[in-house]
Amino acid sequence: MKTEKNDRTEAPRTKSKARSSEVVVPGIAVSHGVAVGLVYDTTDPPAETPHRAIPADAVDDEKQKLAAAVAFSRKQVGKLKTRIGVLPEEAQEELEPLLDAHLMMLGNSRLIRGARKRIETELLGAETAVQEEAEEIRAVILAAKDDDKAGLARRANEVRDIARRLVRNLTATPFRSFKDLPEGCILVSEELTPADAALLDPSRVAGVATEEGGADGHTAIMLRALGIPAVLGAPGLTEAVQRGDQVVLDGTAGTVAVHPSAATLATAKEKLTAFAKERAKLSKLRRLPAETTDGEAVELQANLEIPQELPLIAQAGAMGIGLLRTEFLFMNREDLPDEEAQVEAYTQIVGAMDGLPVTIRVLDWGGEKDMEALAEGVAPGHAGSNPALGLRGLRMLLKRPELLEVQFAAVLRVAAAHSDSHVRLLLPMVTVPEEVRQAREVYERVARRLRRRGEKLPEKLPPLGVMIETPGAALAADAIALEADFFAIGTNDLAMYTLAVDRAEAEVSHLYDPLHPAVLRLVQFATEAALRLRMPVSVCGEMAGNPQLTPLLLGLGVRTFSMNASALPRVKQAVRALDIGDCARFARRVMEQSDPARIRELVAGFAEGVIERA
Ligand code: PEP
Ligand code: MG
Repeated sequence: MKTEKNDRTEAPRTKSKARSSEVVVPGIAVSHGVAVGLVYDTTDPPAETPHRAIPADAVDDEKQKLAAAVAFSRKQVGKLKTRIGVLPEEAQEELEPLLDAHLMMLGNSRLIRGARKRIETELLGAETAVQEEAEEIRAVILAAKDDDKAGLARRANEVRDIARRLVRNLTATPFRSFKDLPEGCILVSEELTPADAALLDPSRVAGVATEEGGADGHTAIMLRALGIPAVLGAPGLTEAVQRGDQVVLDGTAGTVAVHPSAATLATAKEKLTAFAKERAKLSKLRRLPAETTDGEAVELQANLEIPQELPLIAQAGAMGIGLLRTEFLFMNREDLPDEEAQVEAYTQIVGAMDGLPVTIRVLDWGGEKDMEALAEGVAPGHAGSNPALGLRGLRMLLKRPELLEVQFAAVLRVAAAHSDSHVRLLLPMVTVPEEVRQAREVYERVARRLRRRGEKLPEKLPPLGVMIETPGAALAADAIALEADFFAIGTNDLAMYTLAVDRAEAEVSHLYDPLHPAVLRLVQFATEAALRLRMPVSVCGEMAGNPQLTPLLLGLGVRTFSMNASALPRVKQAVRALDIGDCARFARRVMEQSDPARIRELVAGFAEGVIERA
């Protein structure tokens, strides 16, 4: 989240019009469930940014910072404006003039001119200058002799809101505390980064709704993992609610109903009861095998993004961790976790899994998974114009092998200390076989060093696998398979890179489609390349957790699935209702299609016919 810590003592924001009739803001349904609660919006900056003075020689820099924040804020508001078109007419009529006023104030307005002048003449930091200028303008507006007090208050609030946006952008910090969120709140914000989501406590946050974000971005994945109902990519949301508003958030339908009607509330309560019943029914599956009706065993494992998920993984009855995303170790901190810290973290997880397989993926930094500790000094200008196509995943680790060495060493030590464990290592964002060869050289070098240090490593090192998550890797899967010990197909990035659609970007989310035939053909090609060599292959992208897609993936030959723990019982239910022969015939039929809409229809039809009646 690009905002500062909240001021919880502050009174709720007043919007341009008081509204009490229901307004439904649509978004992307990213995490199942319904939540009814009061909005806690985190778009407010702290009420008091410390007063900051600057030396005379910093004036130019500070003016540049202000100009950059103004430009960024204009971009934000402009983007909001283009997206409110999908809102109900009533909400559009309300929001449009407000956003126009904001854009005007981000032009050559008194606020901006005044702030600039304060930087020059009073030697103030940009955020202090903006705050002081905004306060003065507000005082003048509120003191005006005008009978339209509501109109004056509205104008004063507009100045305050735009000043807040500027201050937020000027004082951006990724380090936030969500500890004090009111219990049962619905967290609303423009944007939530994966690092922010990692800080949420699911026992306090009933639901999350944001303006930005896509269905399979890491924020969405994190929210699903935490089991928090969520709607992302909901344009106009932050303008449509204010702190303390009651909302009904439906993470299955992808809607946020602000000031819900009695009928909406009643429906929400029914859905909550139905969810609770379904959960109770699914929990009975925990101890039953994941086996098809014709006796084929299927391995259902869990993805883990943060250690807090371990109890959920146990509850779900997962047969191991098929994807341990180690990014959590690097998030929300300024330094890097050393070997000992990593040993401690992996020990906790491997120990908790008690001999079940644990596949540890080395750091997948880059793209939307930006981390402070690595952002500076690692690769200046690392972001480039296309961060997702730049120094991400293994590419970065091979540039900085010391990071890879620390991670390999920690995993090898934990694997050696748990001789009954089944630990595997996984490489993210591979495109060419040579990268795997280089990583293996580092791996073997680290193992030799550890042995010299007296570590008792097994003769055969833990398997080193490759994520198949780029079209390049999928199409060269036969060549990469010769270098890898196993494959894990990451359908999230595979869909993103194949379709050239950012998985976390709301604007293009309608084009993000893992059922696009191009994506399915790559999954099929990579799976077959592995099966030909009798090499283990799993699917660990979000497709694996969608029970509607279970027949198709089984039919393509996949027998190991790794998914967020909350999805596992439904997938097990699907597996137990399916026959492998039927799945293979169904997959052949799907793979003959070229139209994604037709594929979706077939998939839904098959699921309805077999799984949903189970
Ligand atoms: C994927 O890309 O499908 C995957 C599992 O990796 P991540 O979501 O962590 O990028
Ligand atoms: Mg990936």
